[in-house]
Amino acid sequence: MVNLLSNAAADSATHAALNGSAGRSFLDGAAHSTLSDANRRLEKALRYVSINEDVAERLRYPKSSLVVSIPVRMDDGSLRIFQGYRVRYDDSRGPTKGGVRYHPGVTLDEVQSLAFWMTFKCAVLNLPFGGAKGGITLNPKELSKFELERLTRGYVDAIADFIGPDIDIPAPDVYTNPMVMGWMMDQYSIIQRKITPAVVTGKPITMGGSQGRESATAMGAFFVMQTVLPRLGKSPENTTVAVQGFGNAGSIIAELLYKAGYKVVAVSDSQGGVYASQGLDIPSVRQIKESSRRLKAVYCEGSVCNDQEHSTITNEQLLELDVDVLVPAALENQITAENAGRIQARYIFEVANGPVTSDADAILENRGIQVFPDILVNAGGVTVSYFEWVQNRNGFYWSADKVNHRLEFAMKQETEHIWAIAQEQDIDLRTAAYVHALNRLDDAIRAKGTRDFYVS
Ligand code: NAD
Repeated sequence: MVNLLSNAAADSATHAALNGSAGRSFLDGAAHSTLSDANRRLEKALRYVSINEDVAERLRYPKSSLVVSIPVRMDDGSLRIFQGYRVRYDDSRGPTKGGVRYHPGVTLDEVQSLAFWMTFKCAVLNLPFGGAKGGITLNPKELSKFELERLTRGYVDAIADFIGPDIDIPAPDVYTNPMVMGWMMDQYSIIQRKITPAVVTGKPITMGGSQGRESATAMGAFFVMQTVLPRLGKSPENTTVAVQGFGNAGSIIAELLYKAGYKVVAVSDSQGGVYASQGLDIPSVRQIKESSRRLKAVYCEGSVCNDQEHSTITNEQLLELDVDVLVPAALENQITAENAGRIQARYIFEVANGPVTSDADAILENRGIQVFPDILVNAGGVTVSYFEWVQNRNGFYWSADKVNHRLEFAMKQETEHIWAIAQEQDIDLRTAAYVHALNRLDDAIRAKGTRDFYVS
């Protein structure tokens, strides 16, 4: 049932999948490969660093990719098999770390891309982790909670040999939450016959979760914005914002910005969005979304909706609004060569992973639109996941203030580093973030020996 691909086998399977033929570098890219697109960023950044060629070659390929079939007994008695993945991209800097996504669009290519970004993100924040990611291809909205629990436990059964507190540590991502993480930790502990909280982060507080983990991704993005927006001449009262995606990351960043005095004029979820030129009352919108589970309820005739004049918009329209700041906080590949020419925002903060494609990067840059990259902007989540892992291993737990204070310090410090690299080398912020990460990855990979060491 479990198909564990070793490094070499996984790599050749990956190459075959990405290339469709042997002998071509997968960086040449199969059509529609998100990993090839992610690697284009690596190739660009390599032009601005002086690192060992062995290091670059290592970082072009995922270390190992596990593909599993998960049999689940459904509530009606039938059996369904779900496809799951776990990819460990690179572990030069420590055990690998990355979320698990439940979404109908999950593929091996997507999971490998997300694991690639995690590798660079952990290096940007100087966390002692490599990068990983996991996922199951399903529409979680079609499963009952019992079915979701059985599926989650089945996934852990299938990947148990591939993860562990010193090997690879999963966390939440799209459509997974603290309860799912709690099931994962519990199932892993059953398999190991010992309570092992440090195997997963993003757990409920009572199971060893950290204060501040749920808000960490948004909070980290907020600290980046607080660092850079004032120096771009933007104060909260003269800054309009649109946020795509209204889940963990999107709804919390919208609320943090609203509370800081920014005018959040549009938000959306998978069903569509709402727009109000005078600004939305985000706490009310969150309340409606949380009670109804659907942002669509905001379109209704009813109490909060009637308090505010607003119109409905599509996700495509949201992306093209005339706002100062656009915050994509849903999925990857949202701003592409097709719509980049119509984006009107002046600044894009990538709270989602990979929302802007590399083709779109070039168009946005030519149009003077500045993109603050995912591997910095959304790194608050993995940073507090690291804090959670540290707390689990110490058995000593921190206050929310301590977590947020340490998060603020880390996010602001790395933002300053990346800003300085961009200024000094006259490069865009995404490339500067990759340069920053590459220097740290280079140190770690070189420490294990490269060609220079063996031939000299
Ligand atoms: P989530 O499941 O809590 O929310 C996802 C949101 O996106 C939902 O509101 C959903 O309705 C919306 N959505 C789905 N498809 C959409 C579409 N086509 N258009 C517009 N909205 C759509 O997920 P999340 O944890 O908030 O993750 C969102 C993004 O942030 C992902 O790219 C994820 O990888 C990234 N991220 C999350 C974390 C974290 O800690 N949760 C950390 C780093 C990065």
